[in-house]
Amino acid sequence: MKRRDFVASAAAAPLAASAANGKLAVMGGTPVRKASFPSWPVIGAVEEEKLLAVLRGKKWNRLNGNAVATFETDYARMMGARHVLATANGTSALYTSLNALGVGPGDEVLVPPYTFVATVNVVLLNYALPEFVDTDIESFQMDASKVAGRITSRTAAIMPVHMAGCAANMDVILQAANARKIPVLEDACQGHLGEWRGKKFGTIGAAGCYSFQASKNLNSGEGGAVVTNDTALYERAHSFHNNGRAFRTQGDGFSYHSGGANLRLTEFQGALLTAQMTRLQAQSDLRDANAKYLTSLLEKIPGIHPVRNYEGCTRSAWHLYMLRYDAQGFAGASRSKFLKALSAEGIGGSSGYSPLNKEPFLTNTFKSKGYRKLYPEKVLREWVERNACPQNDKLCEQGVWFSQSTLLGTRSDMEQIAEAIAKVQRQAGDLHKI
Ligand SMILES: *Cc1c(COP(=O)(O)O)cnc(C)c1O
Repeated sequence: MKRRDFVASAAAAPLAASAANGKLAVMGGTPVRKASFPSWPVIGAVEEEKLLAVLRGKKWNRLNGNAVATFETDYARMMGARHVLATANGTSALYTSLNALGVGPGDEVLVPPYTFVATVNVVLLNYALPEFVDTDIESFQMDASKVAGRITSRTAAIMPVHMAGCAANMDVILQAANARKIPVLEDACQGHLGEWRGKKFGTIGAAGCYSFQASKNLNSGEGGAVVTNDTALYERAHSFHNNGRAFRTQGDGFSYHSGGANLRLTEFQGALLTAQMTRLQAQSDLRDANAKYLTSLLEKIPGIHPVRNYEGCTRSAWHLYMLRYDAQGFAGASRSKFLKALSAEGIGGSSGYSPLNKEPFLTNTFKSKGYRKLYPEKVLREWVERNACPQNDKLCEQGVWFSQSTLLGTRSDMEQIAEAIAKVQRQAGDLHKI
C-alpha cells in the first residue's frame, strides 16, 4: 500500500469506528452520520416537459384537457383496476367514496385509531359516526380479529387503513364484512404499489383511495384517486366529485345526477403524476429492499421491534418505516430522549401519531345539535367507553417512524441507521443525563 493511500484509509476507518463506539453525540461525542438523506421529491426533464405541455396547451382543467384522463388510464393499468377517478386530494377521494357507498347520517363507520386524521374527518363530513377498532401493535394495523365484534345494525362501511403502506389484514376484515354485507373502503393513501396476496391495495374491497399529497410516495403537491372495479360506484363517485353533474357530461352540461362538490384534479397535477409515475416502480423496489435490510439489522438490537407484516402482505409500499421502541431495552430511558440522542447521531426519527380516539374534537362533535338528533342518546353517551383502544394507547407511546425518503438511500445508509440505534442502546444509561 502506498503511504498516501494508507493515510487516507487510516483516517477514514477509525473515525467511523470511534463514532460508533465513542461517546454519544448528544453528550458531545462524534455523530455516526453527518450526511443528509435523499431529498424528496425527485424531479427531472420529464416533469418539466409534461408541465410545460399543459401550460402551453392552455387547457388547464380536466373538462377540456386530457392530462388527468391519461393519468387515470395509466394508474388503472398499474393498479390492475377497472376504474380510477382522480380527485383534488386523498381526503376528497375518501369523502367521495363514502358518498358513492351511500354512507350518511345515522350510519357508523369502523376505522382504526392509528391513522392520519383525514380517515376520521371524512366520516364526520358525511355526518356518520366513527367507531374505532383497536390496533394490532405488532403490525400497527387495525386489529382485524376485533372487527366482527364492533359491527352493529348501524355499521355502513369498514375503513381499514394500509398504515405506512403495510397491509391491513384483508382476509379477516373481508370475512367479517361479507358475512354482514358491509362494504370495505380501503384507505390506501400511504399504500402506492402495496399488495395483499398479489392484488394492489384498493382493488380488494369495494373501493380504495390514494393520496398524492407532497409527502406521499407518488406526489403532485396535492392530489388523490378513487380506485374501484365497480362501474356503478365509479359513476356515482365521478358525478359527486363534479358537483353532481351526470357522468360523462362535458363542459357545458347542466344535468344533475346527485348533489356533490367540485373535487376535481387539475391538468397540471395530472401531468405531474404521469411524469412521477415513471419513477414509482424503481423507487418502490429500492424502498422495499432497504426496508427489509434495515429490519434484518434492527431485529438484533434489544428494545427495538420493527413492524411485522402479515403473511398476506405480498408487497409493502413503505410510506414510513415504523418500529416500536421498548424503553426496557434502553435502561428505562424515555422515547423522547432516545429520539433526541438519535437525532444528534445524524438520524432523524419521529414519534408518530397520538391516540385519535381520544381527540376532544370528536366528543365535542357528538355533543352538537345535529349528532344528538341523529344518534340514540345511549350510543353517544357510551361512545368514549366503547371506543377505548388500550393497545393503540400503548403503541402511541412506543412508535418511531423514519420517512419514506430515508429508504431511498443506500445500503450503507441503512447500516448507519442501525449503527446509530445500536450505539444509543449500548450507552442507554447516559440517556438519563440528557
Ligand atoms: C395522507 C392521508 C390521507 C389524506 O390525504 P390528503 O391527500 O392529504 O388529503 C388520508 N388517509 C391517510 C392514511 C393518509 O396518510
